[in-house]
Amino acid sequence: VNGNIQKNSPLNSTTRATAIRRVQVARDCLDLAYTREILARLDGRSVEVIPTAECERVPVLPDAGAFRQGKETLLLCRQKGRFLKKCPGTRVYECCGYQVLNVGMNCPMDCVYCILQAYLNNPRLSFFVNVEDLFTELAADIADDPKRYRRIGTGEFTDSLVLDPITGLSRLLVDFFRSQPRAVLELKTKSAAIANLLELDHNGRTIVSWSLNSPLVTNREELFTATLDDRLAAAAHCAAAGYRVGFHFDPIIYHPGWQQGYSEIIDRLFQTVRPEHIVWISLGCLRFLPALRSIATERFPGSSFFHEEFIEGLDGKFRYFRSLRVEMYRFLARKILAAAPECCLYLCMESEEIWQEVFQFTTKDRGGLTHMLDAAAFDL
Ligand code: SF4
Repeated sequence: VNGNIQKNSPLNSTTRATAIRRVQVARDCLDLAYTREILARLDGRSVEVIPTAECERVPVLPDAGAFRQGKETLLLCRQKGRFLKKCPGTRVYECCGYQVLNVGMNCPMDCVYCILQAYLNNPRLSFFVNVEDLFTELAADIADDPKRYRRIGTGEFTDSLVLDPITGLSRLLVDFFRSQPRAVLELKTKSAAIANLLELDHNGRTIVSWSLNSPLVTNREELFTATLDDRLAAAAHCAAAGYRVGFHFDPIIYHPGWQQGYSEIIDRLFQTVRPEHIVWISLGCLRFLPALRSIATERFPGSSFFHEEFIEGLDGKFRYFRSLRVEMYRFLARKILAAAPECCLYLCMESEEIWQEVFQFTTKDRGGLTHMLDAAAFDL
């Protein structure tokens, strides 16, 4: 990647953050310096101060219109519970020991398959401004067991970077993690908002990762996200700035021409980013709770992928039949490993039987999934 990022490049723009029309601020956060900083970047938007108790009020269950409206209103409030949580994996499938740092809820982009539609009972886009509490909690958790390796990500209940042009949170997080010998931060995104990252001293402790999909799925089912070209260009810029990058083919969605679609995006990935900059790539086929299908098909009646055949897994989520999952995983794995034989490629939320069928080894053969990912993150 040559040259500086142009002023009007999507990498420099506020992307979907520009869709925010209105800001609400919880009264108990109004005087925080960080709140003021964010409000200054949202100059021109209407700002409403709301009683603190109202932030926790669970509004009526979201309907189709409320979802879109929720994405246009940014609520600045406090995280009252814990910031750091275990990744909500299940015991039934192989879990990777990931920790989730919950910096906000919801997302201004709008993917048809987004689990947050069923998971959150509040359609508001929220960002937690009590960052001092966040860093106190993070430091205490690490001090509690300093020898443990940790992979911590902010992309579980929101997108890690789409609001970064407004919040600037990446600067604070990258700075905290740069001096942690046994913790890495993963920023997962479908945006290209990486301008803040490029000027930071990250010390290799931050991994920036992108969710990728077949071009057809991206164009039809991932509304208001960055284009695949912009995501890959952003990854190349981060790699050039010394970051290790990751990619998540998740959810892999069956559709006519899926082989060609996934083949094309894998080719484009390796034309843009060199394998030695990639710390891991994950594969995960579409899985969803029944409630998501009813919400998403009502909101997006033109989408057809929820009408394929599925079976219910041991965790209550619907998945494609095992034979189809294995076929798709094998196809993508063969293609990825041909371009990057040393890559740490893993399956998200799958059983050892599926690992065996896809890779001809199980995670146990390699010391367990947690160990495999720690080894990739910390060069063990
Ligand atoms: S980018 Fe992620 S969090 Fe945002 S709508 Fe899509 S799936 Fe949901």
